[in-house]
Amino acid sequence: MALLQVRHLSKFFNIDRNHRVHAVDDVSLSIAEREIVGLVGESGSGKSTLGKTMLGLHHKSAGEVIYKGELLPAKYHPADFQRHAKNMQMIFQDPYSSLNPRMTVGEIIGEGLRLHTNKKGTEIREQVARWLKRVGLEPDHMSRYPHEFSGGQRQRIGVARALILEPEFVVCDEPISALDVSVQAQVVNLLDELKASMGLTLLFIAHDLSMVRYVSDRMAVMYLGSVIEIGVSDDVFFNPKHPYTQILVGSNPEPDPQTERARPSTAIKGEIPSPVNVPAGCRFANRCPQMMEVCRVETPALIDLKEVGSGKREVACHLYN
Ligand code: SF4
Repeated sequence: MALLQVRHLSKFFNIDRNHRVHAVDDVSLSIAEREIVGLVGESGSGKSTLGKTMLGLHHKSAGEVIYKGELLPAKYHPADFQRHAKNMQMIFQDPYSSLNPRMTVGEIIGEGLRLHTNKKGTEIREQVARWLKRVGLEPDHMSRYPHEFSGGQRQRIGVARALILEPEFVVCDEPISALDVSVQAQVVNLLDELKASMGLTLLFIAHDLSMVRYVSDRMAVMYLGSVIEIGVSDDVFFNPKHPYTQILVGSNPEPDPQTERARPSTAIKGEIPSPVNVPAGCRFANRCPQMMEVCRVETPALIDLKEVGSGKREVACHLYN
């Protein structure tokens, strides 16, 4: 059963009366209970905006967000936040700027309990201490300030802050990209462990395809505000169908599992078009090595490629029409 579903979701940012940024444009996606969906794509493809719009941190411009069968309001009121914050949380990208430097770690982690539950004083401190231990820190770290911790430790604090309310759905917005490679695996393993013990459902946003493949059950690829391929993570990674996904995978250092040789690097050429002037037809046409006449005029719909890999695969490309 889908825990969260978005239908034709769009988020535009108005620049002036005649121009707007098409950050997320007509995205439909559903995430099952206890599923991890990885979201990949270049910077500026709309991944973070999609995650924030799903949570109501951005007001949607069009479309629907359905959580456990309930249609969420277009604009959240304080009472909606109160209700949904307990169920839906976000782990932010930058562990340096996302923690208030003037609050102690105990205040930061316990803030959600103060705002969204009836718990007080000692009860909150006890729960914060338990969560500090759960994320591999010490209970007496509660009285310290964020600047006293390393990047990896700060991200653990961010994880504890997001999960202390025991949400069902969490958007992890590039939770490891600001960390050293040696620390990235620790944070991913921590999320994996907590996902298994808490039965979390996650949208995991990242640049690193091999990390997303490792973490997620399904992988969705975004390009210029649209989802252009989605399927079982291993299928998408080892047998990508959309020309953009093929280039993304080709530029990944992971060796080919068949030959165990490094894949030839196929760096993507050209610039991603401006999300203010979205081109007609396929948005990837100006960079696609397989572009055809039809690609310049008709926008390809996301269609189900039957019998490809181990699960449903959808791709938006005229090569498969
Ligand atoms: Fe390339 Fe055309 Fe497919 Fe777009 S629709 S990815 S331009 S082949």
